Amino acid sequence: MRHLIDPTDLTVEETERIVALAEDIIAHRAAYSEACKGKKLATLFYEPSTRTRLSFTSAMMELGGQVIGFSDANSSSVSKGETVADTVRVIRCFADIIAMRHFKEGAPLVASQYAGIPVINAGDGSHAHPTQTLTDLLTIKREKGRFDNMTIGFCGDLKFGRTVHSLIKALSRYSGIEVILISPEELRLPDYMLQEMQANSRLTFREVRTMEEVMPELDVLYMTRVQKERFLDEEEFDRVKNSFVLDPEKMKNAKPDMIVLHPLPRVNEITRAVDNDPRAAYFRQVENGKFVRMALIYTLLQWADENRPYERTPVFGEEYLVNEHVCPNRRCISSTEDVDQLFRRMPDGTCRCAYCETKAR
Ligand code: ASP
Repeated sequence: MRHLIDPTDLTVEETERIVALAEDIIAHRAAYSEACKGKKLATLFYEPSTRTRLSFTSAMMELGGQVIGFSDANSSSVSKGETVADTVRVIRCFADIIAMRHFKEGAPLVASQYAGIPVINAGDGSHAHPTQTLTDLLTIKREKGRFDNMTIGFCGDLKFGRTVHSLIKALSRYSGIEVILISPEELRLPDYMLQEMQANSRLTFREVRTMEEVMPELDVLYMTRVQKERFLDEEEFDRVKNSFVLDPEKMKNAKPDMIVLHPLPRVNEITRAVDNDPRAAYFRQVENGKFVRMALIYTLLQWADENRPYERTPVFGEEYLVNEHVCPNRRCISSTEDVDQLFRRMPDGTCRCAYCETKAR
């Protein structure tokens, strides 16, 4: 059974096929209006969402399918203490495919172990958000015409910004990618991501502290919101919340064909005046999200019918250690639910939690 938990669950070729299918859907919408007739999508959202949940809902409706689900964990049996594993074992009786968002890192991976139907990770804690990545890739394809040979700046909350983590992973499989990380010290990319990038000889990256110093180099500027809900310390949030603001003055130094992406919602990191700049692609990006989710749902349902196996060559070592370590990450699903402590042994000998990628101590 194929799921989409991490962007690298799809090979580069499969990713590009889904992006191409989304482009075909854009060109021939009517042809897909009954593509998922008789199928049901369950949207299990344990954490607030506007865009992603409605985008999934609207995607399934445009494919002629139906949607069930919840958008508030308190209105489901979770409030009675039900585990993710049990919830999805119940949902599989009612639906053909699941889109799950959860505040705990690794929850969709746990769901995929028990669901028996395809599970799509619609965002797990500050870990990953692979369907936002497909959205970003479709937007980059439509706006720039390529995925390779470009300089992309990621700005803002690179620590908790799950969309950043997933997009970097996806892009790091292409050649000629230069990543520039623009963040305050407190919001640097997590160690596991930095280590992965260091080990990747195809990709170059550097860290800077201001947007201005790199603006003229960028082909894509990926802005992010400081993820208030992930801070354990409010004072720390107050210190970094206004770190970066993109305004028309800064846009003056950017290339004429640079594009600005943002997964949204925006708070104050892009001023309203930038919206009128043709390089601001973030509202076009939202619409692309619906089309690429249509392509993904359609593809995963087809793969489920065919019983199609994974084709990816694993990025990580495939040797798993079960219950030999305990994940130190409080945000990991394994810290609250009764799941096996599952660790992958990495090529350098260290072990990483399979749910949240945190290193074993
Ligand atoms: N909508 C994106 C996410 O769910 C970005 C954000 O919330 O800032 O991660």
